[in-house]
Amino acid sequence: AAASVTAEWDGVGRTADGRVVPVLANVGDGAGAAKAADARAEGVGLFRTELAFLSAAEEPTEAAQRAVYTAVLSAFAGKPVTARTLDAGADKPLPFLSLDGEPNPALGVRGLRIARVPGNGDGVLERQLAALAAAAKETGVALKVMAPMVATAEEARWFVQRCRAHGISQAGVMIEIPAAVLTADEIMAEVDFVSVGTNDLAQYLFAADRQSGPVAALNDPWQPALLRLIGLLGEASARTGTPVGVCGEAAADPGLAAVLVGLGVASLSMGSGALAAVGATLAGLTVEQCRERARAACAAADPIAARRAVAALDG
Ligand code: PEP
Ligand code: MG
Repeated sequence: AAASVTAEWDGVGRTADGRVVPVLANVGDGAGAAKAADARAEGVGLFRTELAFLSAAEEPTEAAQRAVYTAVLSAFAGKPVTARTLDAGADKPLPFLSLDGEPNPALGVRGLRIARVPGNGDGVLERQLAALAAAAKETGVALKVMAPMVATAEEARWFVQRCRAHGISQAGVMIEIPAAVLTADEIMAEVDFVSVGTNDLAQYLFAADRQSGPVAALNDPWQPALLRLIGLLGEASARTGTPVGVCGEAAADPGLAAVLVGLGVASLSMGSGALAAVGATLAGLTVEQCRERARAACAAADPIAARRAVAALDG
């Protein structure tokens, strides 16, 4: 059940007691970015760059990439945009990049891992970072760049070094693998921010394919185990001062968005259609009320009980 909407959203993400929680959009191209700006997104929390190149037989040139990135960034001049480097492999194979014939693609060479396989991703990350940096310069956008599928602090360090070499001052990683949560303090020491991909984090936490219908209940974002794991990240964020955002589907559910804020999440990114409802829900709740919801959801035995416990607090 969604939390009751007790306030209209005025276009600025914040709780009833004034805690600022930017409400951001997930986008994949210029048209999506324009739509998100119309829906009053305060920025982009996840630009899935790979979506523009799903049918590209060859690596798009730096100039072609720059054109795509500029189209997205120009819709958010003066606002923050977080671009994710190519998340190829598994459910999003890129013809020019993904490895063929892996027995288990979701557990194979995907996301940042591709850039680190000698001879396969060589130079692709460098050219993408150059194109992103050029688009940021051209549009005056406060660009942040993050890597998908990061498992270790060493991978995070490797990625941040490459971003810095391109003059990208805000570099982060997605948290999608349980090991990355359990080493969050070490990862946070390497990066400027982290962003939780709840879709993949649930998949890898429950060993349940996100594309498989029969195991969909395990991938329910209200699973208390998933919420407790995100709570560990919130605690690490409080210790280290490194902000944690959420850009998976969980952030688009208003009731769950409040839970996430209660767990220590500092920003939320979602499909454009959810912005107003999430913004309005946050505006109607104090941080302490969000924490109360987080405690209730985490203590529940299963997703249905978690939803019920949070809905009872709305009553
Ligand atoms: C996620 O895994 O939650 C995420 C936001 O990334 P994607 O859905 O693109 O894998
Ligand atoms: Mg993901």
